[in-house]
Amino acid sequence: MRKQIAAANWKMNLTLQQGEQLLTHILAAAKPSKQNHQVVFAVPFPYLAMAQERISGMAGTFIAAQNCSDKKSGAYTGEVSVEMLQSLGIRFVVLGHSERREYFNESNRLLAEKLNICLENKMQPIFCCGEALQIREAGTQNEFVAQQLKESLYHLSGEQLQQVVIAYEPIWAIGTGKTASSAQAQEMHAFIRQQLAAQYGATVADSISILYGGSVKAANAVELFSQPDVDGGLVGGASLIAEEFVAIISALK
Ligand code: PEP
Repeated sequence: MRKQIAAANWKMNLTLQQGEQLLTHILAAAKPSKQNHQVVFAVPFPYLAMAQERISGMAGTFIAAQNCSDKKSGAYTGEVSVEMLQSLGIRFVVLGHSERREYFNESNRLLAEKLNICLENKMQPIFCCGEALQIREAGTQNEFVAQQLKESLYHLSGEQLQQVVIAYEPIWAIGTGKTASSAQAQEMHAFIRQQLAAQYGATVADSISILYGGSVKAANAVELFSQPDVDGGLVGGASLIAEEFVAIISALK
């Protein structure tokens, strides 16, 4: 049975003290309630150690970095390597968020390198994909997402791919308050799974968790997560409000 995941993306928000308080509230109120449920907190780099310590010993709860370097180590001032993350006990890394693609020029090719270094080091990537508004309006979102998958993922073996979590995040729905309808989300998630099945076979495709991201909140999480190919969410704004994220965790199917 594939994993159902509620992943928080704090982005560049909160002080250490605010982050600690938020985690304390959420962890006290919500725990993964089924064997196949996972809760992930993608926190800023300086808070990783604090967060990792807070979740220690909690089943089904993990900390993620929001990015990592494509290089192993060396003279790359300001970068953070997978090995460093691993030494803190971090299990997941968000890769290819649209904000990194847009503001830091991360290409499908660079993301393929980051995926490689994560997988070589047993770190699970949460790989983000998704189209901008003009692509959706032109009706070419399937081709666009298929290209992102092809250029970043298809060099991986089936076994490697099974370590990857995919997050479909239509850019027009991120931080805009405009959510894809559950039908739009299901349609794209089914398309992504179909593409993976064509490349890797149905067994591999069926085992991959595909999260939806884009203005997920307590009020729409049940409806979105109830779709057969939506395996939870990657949540920005609403993950900064304890009651919202707790409700999102309990909306996992
Ligand atoms: C995100 O940060 O990945 C995201 C989906 O943000 P929001 O939930 O705020 O739209």
